[in-house]
Amino acid sequence: MLIGCPTEIKPQEFRVGLTPNAAREAVSHGHEVTVQAGAGLGAGFTDEDYHAAGARTVDTAEEIFASADMIVKVKEPQAGERKMLREGQLLFTYLHLAPDPDQTHDLLESGCTAIAYETVTDRNGGLPLLAPMSEVAGKLAPQVGSWTLQKANGGRGVLMGGVPGVGPAKVVVIGGGVVGTQAARVAAGMGADVTVLDMSLPRLRYLDDTLRGEFKTAYASKGNTADLVAEADMVIGAVLIPGAAAPKLISREQLSTMKPGAVLVDVAIDQGGCFETSKATTHADPIYEVDGIMHYCVANMPGAVARTSTIALGNATMPFMLALADKGWRQACADDEHLLNGLNVHAGQLTYYAVGKALGIDV
Ligand code: NAD
Repeated sequence: MLIGCPTEIKPQEFRVGLTPNAAREAVSHGHEVTVQAGAGLGAGFTDEDYHAAGARTVDTAEEIFASADMIVKVKEPQAGERKMLREGQLLFTYLHLAPDPDQTHDLLESGCTAIAYETVTDRNGGLPLLAPMSEVAGKLAPQVGSWTLQKANGGRGVLMGGVPGVGPAKVVVIGGGVVGTQAARVAAGMGADVTVLDMSLPRLRYLDDTLRGEFKTAYASKGNTADLVAEADMVIGAVLIPGAAAPKLISREQLSTMKPGAVLVDVAIDQGGCFETSKATTHADPIYEVDGIMHYCVANMPGAVARTSTIALGNATMPFMLALADKGWRQACADDEHLLNGLNVHAGQLTYYAVGKALGIDV
């Protein structure tokens, strides 16, 4: 199979769909790999790295789209890329079609087969191609939050770990899933006093059993949340209700109960945000203040560490990419129900129920 990887063109996207390692694996399986020249630079991979892996580079995205049997990307195809997709071509990338009728329409029109990273599942009910980005965002959250806590950035001027004789910052993490666990571990590692709130008792039990001593856990009742938020130097929002907008867990009114200069890091901003006063920001201008409380609400946090994120995503996508290339999508999906769950579009038909429901299109 000819596997093609164009340069990402969405603003501020520095990741790349295929690492040189993934290219090397595909070549060793007998496939041809073509990468757009410079596609890996944002993640620190040169064209020479791809050549050494046995891949070819070409100058334009047009050449990739015109020749490849499977296109491997990171972000959803942009309007110009969608025009280049062909009938029978396989697209393997993040799509997020439910809120995006234009993209859905274009993919249906193209006749391509599109498998979305975000709906591929695993046998534990998890989302294995989303998890690595949640891990990255979770580990970043205390890092960016501690920077925001610094006085010059508008924060309270509190050091995460304190010093001998001065106590540490109080960090509250709301949502103890993938993001929340990683955030809590890093914040605890920095020496902060960390409490994780979740509504799922089994999840709290799991966290308490496996990470005992690293941080405290609390049930996310309204009362517990209000009490902990009022005392916090930093609150990290990390909740997810699959398929739904994030619930608003801190109201604007509640900001007045918080310490001036405290920091809210809303990782759930990509699902609309879990604080009433959250609005999406960018890496170029990541923070803002409301009623004396600093907010960090970057919707694509993993982009800040494009190299780590690219390699982490590549590790997770590689086995699926190889199965698709080795067997063709039909056989690969027939053999693996979890990969089949990734199938969103085929030959002009929407094949993913939740997307059809969201957009009012028959599946
Ligand atoms: P997850 O499913 O692993 O964890 C979510 C947790 O939230 C679960 O443990 C659940 O029980 C808990 N929860 C749900 N409702 C709650 C409530 N009302 N109060 C307390 N806890 C509640 O999800 P995840 O992978 O950790 O993702 C968390 C969020 O981070 C998602 O919105 C995801 O889209 C987002 N995210 C954002 C970025 C970014 O760059 N901003 C990157 C990755 C993930």
